[in-house]
Amino acid sequence: MKRQAPNRPNQSSNRKSQRILKALTLSLCLLLCLLLTQGCRSAAKNQTVHLPARHSVSAEQLIVLSDFKLGQDHELFQDLIKLREDVAETLSIPLNSEQVTVYLFTNQEEYRNYLDMTYPGLPPRRAYFVGTPKELAVYTFWGERIQEDLRHEFTHGLLHASLKTVPLWLDEGLAEYFEVAGNTPGQVNRDHASRLSTALNNGWKPDMKRLEQLEKVSQMQRVDYQEAWAWVHFMLNSTPETRDTLLEYLAELRTNNHPEELSTRLPRDIPGVDQRFVNYVASLNTFPSR
Ligand SMILES: [Zn+2]
Repeated sequence: MKRQAPNRPNQSSNRKSQRILKALTLSLCLLLCLLLTQGCRSAAKNQTVHLPARHSVSAEQLIVLSDFKLGQDHELFQDLIKLREDVAETLSIPLNSEQVTVYLFTNQEEYRNYLDMTYPGLPPRRAYFVGTPKELAVYTFWGERIQEDLRHEFTHGLLHASLKTVPLWLDEGLAEYFEVAGNTPGQVNRDHASRLSTALNNGWKPDMKRLEQLEKVSQMQRVDYQEAWAWVHFMLNSTPETRDTLLEYLAELRTNNHPEELSTRLPRDIPGVDQRFVNYVASLNTFPSR
């Protein structure tokens, strides 16, 4: 998913190969995808499809291409610019100049037709992040949940621009964390909190090691997205120690493809972490809205 960055020309060919290899695995986002009920629509084979290109708006490392006008001062665009700063500040990762291109289709049909022609066989989802050696790209369309979709996918883009790699579950957990709009990062995803609370009452036990073994988006179910989001929320907000453990791990991911796993670090750094996490998850459902 990572790719050769134009502003970092001296990276090894080995790293580039890894990026190309990873690019073969599309980073898809699931979350929202589970809510799609329209089913897969096939594009007519003789239908002309194209990427949105008539209008562009850009700032920092973000460029949004669309066939309708989206002004620089549009709140969605400005929200993404602020999100970039929030992600960098919250995760202590450097602001990067590697461009993330958002292809914002006018409607779902044009979006679906393009994806069906370009990436045949993809399941119907409202948005995709695709990192290739050529670009970090987000594909989505103007719809009711455009803000959370854009925030989720742009977060993937920012992570892949700054880190050498990022485990799938953590990639999704962080995207889920930052997709929730608000004055500050860390707003509670009410749907996740409610479902996790019910799961706890039904005897669910969290298992980060299991999450770490997931390698394909197709393996990730809704419950995995929920748990990944909760681990990220817990690590960033419960105590300074849990935050430090996550930030140290992310710092290593900037240079190391295989740092020691979080599931090994956390119990060592945070005694009784599993029970603390369960208690935290139980409390999430009572967090006030900010
Ligand atoms: Zn995602």
